[in-house]
Amino acid sequence: MTEALKLGAPVAPGGTIGILGGGQLGRMLSLAAARLGLKTHIYSDEEDAPAFQVCSRSTQASYGDKAALETFSRSCNAVTLEFENIPEQTLEFVGHLAPANPGAAALSITQDRYLEKAFVKNLGIPVPKHVPIGHEDAARVAFELLSCPRAVLKTRRFGYDGKGQILVTSESEAVDAFRKFAGALAILEEFVEFAYEASVIAARGTDGSFAAYDPPENVHGDHILRRSTVPGRLTKEQTSEAIAVAKKIADELDYVGVFAVEFFVAKDGRLLVNEIAPRVHNSGHWTIEACVVNQFEQHVRAIAGWPLGDPSRHADAVMENIIGEEARHWREFAGKRVGLHLYGKQEMRPGRKMGHVTTLSPLSSR
Ligand code: AMP
Repeated sequence: MTEALKLGAPVAPGGTIGILGGGQLGRMLSLAAARLGLKTHIYSDEEDAPAFQVCSRSTQASYGDKAALETFSRSCNAVTLEFENIPEQTLEFVGHLAPANPGAAALSITQDRYLEKAFVKNLGIPVPKHVPIGHEDAARVAFELLSCPRAVLKTRRFGYDGKGQILVTSESEAVDAFRKFAGALAILEEFVEFAYEASVIAARGTDGSFAAYDPPENVHGDHILRRSTVPGRLTKEQTSEAIAVAKKIADELDYVGVFAVEFFVAKDGRLLVNEIAPRVHNSGHWTIEACVVNQFEQHVRAIAGWPLGDPSRHADAVMENIIGEEARHWREFAGKRVGLHLYGKQEMRPGRKMGHVTTLSPLSSR
């Protein structure tokens, strides 16, 4: 196998950034790229992907279509992704034709919850107790091994927004839940009685430079992010620790681009890594209104080989997602003093992220 292409000179204005995936993250990346004078080519298997509406070129094809992937790659000066479940082989194929970041190696770890947790744990960073599950008996034993009142069974791959997660409270429920996954490899993880959740959104450049945003505190409902508030409750020391953890992870993965590390903050103040997201992140949307350079521009800068921008925050912010039928109230949102973002999705399915609003307030001293 030939080496993946590395970015040489930065992508100059007028160049094209390829984005695998066409959801709202691709849409907001495309808008940010346009501001920098860069074009985008969106590749998605969805017919009416939200990002198709705002790019200069689009391809609708499956992630296994080599001819389409080749044409796409050859049209781009650099390629990235907006969805972590892009098949690793797709990214590897594209990576031989155009510089692609994050690369297949980082993706292979972050796509598998077990490999990801093992990787983080090996760096000496605390993660929730967990056990890999390959068959029914293992599910029973794992529940016993964890010896906690509640646990979450999660598929190792293709989970996001709580998809592929079941809460269990006994050995037999763990076995039943595993059966529901129809043989998919899983992990059983202790249910963490956290005080709250927080995340670090940060970027690493091609030269190893690093820039982190102030970490928001996050509230989820039904496993889906509802609200991010910045500043959150993390103390100065916890903030430094969380950012140091994110930097260690990115350096170790030789990561290029924006990424997020999600944390559970335990009642005793300990930080446990829940998840790494190898992409721009929902809990970083407030950076559009509240920071000098937002996470989308920062990602484009990083993967295009530009210097990282200034992540500093000039306001306090609360970002709230607009989910499913809530999008019917767009007129109400439009009448408020908030930053309104609608993702151009026609169908309001339950749990579907339709948009978000960001409310700013004067910068507090925290
Ligand atoms: P995930 O997709 O793993 O990030 O899970 C989505 C959300 O579900 C998390 O942000 C938490 O709110 C909740 N959750 C997931 N795993 C656990 C856990 N082990 N203990 C408590 N809550 C969890």
